[in-house]
Amino acid sequence: MGLRAQDFEDTIVAQSTAEGLAAIGVVRLSGPAAKKILIRIFRQQSAQDGLPARQLVRGWVENRQGQAIDDVLAVFFPGPGSYTGQDLAEIHCHGGPTVLATIIDLLLAEGARPARPGEFTRRAFESGKMDLSAAEAVVQLIHAGSQAQLVGACRSLSGELTQRLDAVLERLETLQAHLEAKLDFSDEQDSQQISLDACHGLQAEIAAMMTVVRRVDVYQDEVVFCGRPNVGKSSLINRLAGRSVSIVSPEPGTTRDAVSAQVQLAGQRVSLVDTAGHRQNENLGPIDRQAGEVAQAKMEAAAVRVWVSEVKENVASPPPEAVAAHLWVANKADLLADNRCEAVHREVEAKGGLLVSALSGDGLERMAQEIAKALCGQLGPVDGIPMSCRQQAALEKMAAAGQRAEKALGDEMYELAAEDVKDAIAAVGELKGREIETDVLDRIFGEFCIGK
Ligand code: GDP
Repeated sequence: MGLRAQDFEDTIVAQSTAEGLAAIGVVRLSGPAAKKILIRIFRQQSAQDGLPARQLVRGWVENRQGQAIDDVLAVFFPGPGSYTGQDLAEIHCHGGPTVLATIIDLLLAEGARPARPGEFTRRAFESGKMDLSAAEAVVQLIHAGSQAQLVGACRSLSGELTQRLDAVLERLETLQAHLEAKLDFSDEQDSQQISLDACHGLQAEIAAMMTVVRRVDVYQDEVVFCGRPNVGKSSLINRLAGRSVSIVSPEPGTTRDAVSAQVQLAGQRVSLVDTAGHRQNENLGPIDRQAGEVAQAKMEAAAVRVWVSEVKENVASPPPEAVAAHLWVANKADLLADNRCEAVHREVEAKGGLLVSALSGDGLERMAQEIAKALCGQLGPVDGIPMSCRQQAALEKMAAAGQRAEKALGDEMYELAAEDVKDAIAAVGELKGREIETDVLDRIFGEFCIGK
């Protein structure tokens, strides 16, 4: 069920720290009655009256019989200078499940209601404390898989994306004003040039933004290894992962299911997927046929396809064109006859491939770097501002509308250009969360954890 405006009048409560045993647990309350509800269960240690703003205060949580149940710290943030923009309180208690559950029960009994997933951040968004791009950065920060990705999420959280979007919006609105003037007073000289200049500036701003974003959640599987059976795909993945992810066997067709491993490559967390070998024109049984279909689907959904072939009789064959591989590695370099090493190495490199050996480890470091590079080529810089599928779609809509506007302007089709500018403004609105449908917001915030 979607949230309505009056839902923000409730005071919500949730555990903000993870489940399980921990040294400390945090319970948060947000809403007009946050302070009143907190005071009902919290006894300050010092004689001081009232809760000072934004200061940790030591005290006890008491149950309804007046018995102390935990020694805690409490803090009160008056709205609007709080995370949610509303009155907000936190209790930092001991991190036992019973402590947390008891404190939450007491707060519920005093009139709070349980928060829904992402409801604290939703309130921050609704009260204008952050725009949607910054709110989404909160989830991306929590889910970041590497330090570089943390840097990217912080760029967004600290407002870089918001500022860039605001700059684009300003240019769009200027252009819109020019176009309106042109449509109203069509005899004005120079206005086409002014509008065109504004449009070029806009395109430059959008292009600059495109280079600093990182596409996240776009692909199901990031790096998929494919190639004929027995060429050494599993061995290469096991070497990169530094552990046994897939069974390695001289018997062809050992890998049936797609098996994946999370590894860190050049500052990014990457999922490597091993697939059943690529078989052609063979009489396959039902299991192998199904494995082939799974492998095909994985390849199609991949951000980066690594084609693995093996050096056989001193020859390494490149990937079939249909595979559209991003990277080709010719494995088993150790099997090369000494006098053919140099020549095969040159042949493979000339075709854009890498000669490696899972057995000896030769070329594996370079392979890892090339995979990381290919991934950045597909997704954007590793410390780029993270963009979800939804954000990416809106960004592309904005860029396409900007290009159409430029073309229409060049053709002196001002009404058409004005429509395109309007579309681009709407796409920026989608990114910033202006006039966005409630069910879209429900979906976005529904992906947050409870207590965030
Ligand atoms: P996959 O079917 O493509 O996943 O291939 P595997 O990783 O299961 O390897 C198939 C066979 O090739 C196994 O017997 C491996 O020990 C062997 N193998 C894998 N990599 C190398 C290599 O670099 N050099 C040599 N000589 N053998 C390898």
